[in-house]
Amino acid sequence: MNEKIQFFRDTWTEIDLDALYDNVKMIRNALPRETHMFAAVKANAYGHGALQVGAEVLRAGAHGLVVALLDEAIWLRNNGIEAPILVLGAIRPGDAGMAARHNIAVPVFQRHWLEEAGRSIKDGDKLKVHIKCDTGMGRIGLRGAGELKEIEKIVSKSDKFLLEGIFTHFATADQLEESYYQQQLAKFKRLVEQLDTVPPYVHAANSAAALCHHDSLFNAVRIGIAIYGLSPSDERHFTLKTRQILSWHTKIVHVKELQRGESIGYGAGYKAREDEWIGTIPVGYADGWLRKLEGHPVIVEGEFAPIVGRICMDQTMIRLPRHFPVGTEVTLIGGRQGRFISVEDIAEKLDTINYEVTCSINFRVPRVYKRGKEAVEIENQLSTH
Ligand SMILES: *Cc1c(COP(=O)(O)O)cnc(C)c1O
Repeated sequence: MNEKIQFFRDTWTEIDLDALYDNVKMIRNALPRETHMFAAVKANAYGHGALQVGAEVLRAGAHGLVVALLDEAIWLRNNGIEAPILVLGAIRPGDAGMAARHNIAVPVFQRHWLEEAGRSIKDGDKLKVHIKCDTGMGRIGLRGAGELKEIEKIVSKSDKFLLEGIFTHFATADQLEESYYQQQLAKFKRLVEQLDTVPPYVHAANSAAALCHHDSLFNAVRIGIAIYGLSPSDERHFTLKTRQILSWHTKIVHVKELQRGESIGYGAGYKAREDEWIGTIPVGYADGWLRKLEGHPVIVEGEFAPIVGRICMDQTMIRLPRHFPVGTEVTLIGGRQGRFISVEDIAEKLDTINYEVTCSINFRVPRVYKRGKEAVEIENQLSTH
């Protein structure tokens, strides 16, 4: 471990790199050998850390990475990632030259964009492009065969572009009801058939599609949530035994005994019903530990302890089953001492999806990367070293 990188507050997440590696292997093995697997590491790898996750998934057999922003892609390149990278979101045409210089592929779906982008690309450079088709997600992408033909023509005629892929994105691949999925799939197939030359990568599937619909695979997939060991769907059950790679921990900084009737927190919203042991943990909504989690349990020495009183910006109070000393470890997410709190448990309490939970854990919380029991790296974005 790099001794120079450290943190001064005992609140941290752990990312289990072994579990991540196993998850990727498991997903790869569930796909045909020839399917190229792109791992989605946008949004700092759904909060897990894009550099560490990116390197590990490539080691485990991912073919390339996808991100949402050009900034994310350049950050990966500047940190030594040489594998194929595709940006999923729209970029400005004026930044096309920048993407080309870093060998980063981008989506194309507007004729005017191509014209302007061509001017920003240096002579001799080539920008890899994937044609984005909107088959029903309604986000970005061209919608008809006419536009597709036009764009293919401009791209193939220009020496500034290299047509590397064509793709679409499903809106309902995670749902049991399949008719909308089938419509989108048929539309995408019809569009691909319109091309004079089929590019190297044809891709449509996210995690839910890749794991549920074998007709969605084409020759590449874009897998995000599943590599993190999280479920892509509330409705569908998955047989793959992937494991949640993230856990979140803190330590008690203060313990006191409250007398019956005494209160806790802003608004004095919680009142002790009897004499109670209360612990304070240094984590709050400014870390992504959201106020709506009031009442939810955490794990203390193998026992559940509920959050009492309102969650503050930087601190939270919990009702302990008995006295515990300052310094006792508390688990907010993940497993300890035979108990487990899943990202999905937290999502349910927050009325949201697992994706949003891990993405919300922000820069204030250091990420500790583990192999076996050993911490191999610590990422602390507040580190002053
Ligand atoms: C985020 C994203 C993915 C990955 O989705 P998961 O559900 O996390 O597998 C794939 N494709 C696109 C276009 C995306 O935006």
